Amino acid sequence: MKILVLNSGSSSIKFQLFDAKTNESLVSGIIEQIGEKISHARIKFESGELEKKIPIANHKIGLEIMNSLLIESKIIKDLCELDGIGHRVVHGGEEFCEPTIINDKVIKQIEKLIPLAPLHNPANLEGIKSSIEHCPNVPQVAVFDTAFHSSIPKYAYMYALPYETYEKDGVRRYGFHGTSHHFVAKEAAKKLGIKMENLNAITLHLGNGASMSAVKNGKSIDTSMGLTPLEGLIMGTRCGDIDPAIIFYLSRVENLNEDELDNMLNKKSGLKGICGNNDMREVGEMAQNGDEKAKLALEMFSYRIKKYIGSYSAVLGRVDCLIFTGGIGENDIEVRRNSCSNLENLGISLDLDKNNQRAKEIIDISKPNSKVKVLVIPTNEELEIALQVKSLIL
Ligand code: AMP
Repeated sequence: MKILVLNSGSSSIKFQLFDAKTNESLVSGIIEQIGEKISHARIKFESGELEKKIPIANHKIGLEIMNSLLIESKIIKDLCELDGIGHRVVHGGEEFCEPTIINDKVIKQIEKLIPLAPLHNPANLEGIKSSIEHCPNVPQVAVFDTAFHSSIPKYAYMYALPYETYEKDGVRRYGFHGTSHHFVAKEAAKKLGIKMENLNAITLHLGNGASMSAVKNGKSIDTSMGLTPLEGLIMGTRCGDIDPAIIFYLSRVENLNEDELDNMLNKKSGLKGICGNNDMREVGEMAQNGDEKAKLALEMFSYRIKKYIGSYSAVLGRVDCLIFTGGIGENDIEVRRNSCSNLENLGISLDLDKNNQRAKEIIDISKPNSKVKVLVIPTNEELEIALQVKSLIL
């Protein structure tokens, strides 16, 4: 019994194949540079690796190449023998709160949501349509990044803008990285021996994109990303929270148009904007070598996280655990230390020795007497998607 998970970007398809009985990953891989002169397809499995460098004009051909590599690896005979295919879809709007079997109506609804996620939903749809064309008899399931946050109460998801912007244009907080926040919260509940429906947690997904979530009784009740993934924490290239009036001010004094401002806030800000580099490992090295802007970027990054820990502690009341995940959360010792420093008044006490490691598996990095446990949990969004597909189709 096998489930394939597809994460389709505008020029790439990441994929992972799971044994649905054991939840074990059998193969993972990526098709990159779709539409360019030379594209690159790679798969990794237990006993080896295969790769191809050939032109791949579109997602449909990408899936054909993926199929041929999977057949070559002898793990499947054909994609059509799979039990289910799960698709990551970034924006589910208010319509999709749960994993959903894909049919024509669902495709139309995802298309309608394109204005809310103009970069992501079209690419996700490209993967979905190609996959249906390739194997029309395999159940295809959409798993939405926004779905875990559909439990956020209205007073937390509304912006204090004219009400019609919500009614007419769907302006509200949706939140993203939901699959990751959900996965690590469930793992934490297991680790702490607490039922998911009783777990109160603050989840920190810190990668190139970064977001936090307040989880009460196992459900998301607030999250730092908003209408789009631009709000909230400082990220690799995104600014996170700013005074919205900065946009009008810059438009006036620098004569910047909408696209230029969008590009600045999404691609030229965050760590990159402050110190010229968006890779946290390199920012850390720059800071160690005395680069003042890199030091500042690190201070700002952790300070923003600390402010969110404070506000989510207030919102939750009792907090069972803080969970670090994502490339930075799982690996960056300094960021974890700085984000949790001087938070003893909130019951958070980090053990600096235990914190001094990277997480290959779940680790508890808090002191034994810390009221709030601090856990580092490697995220696994692909497995979570496969589990959600399994729960729907089996
Ligand atoms: P992600 O988007 O989850 O893949 O995370 C990417 C971010 O994680 C980048 O900023 C990387 O620099 C950072 N990262 C990955 N490995 C490490 C590491 N060992 N130490 C610090 N940051 C890391």
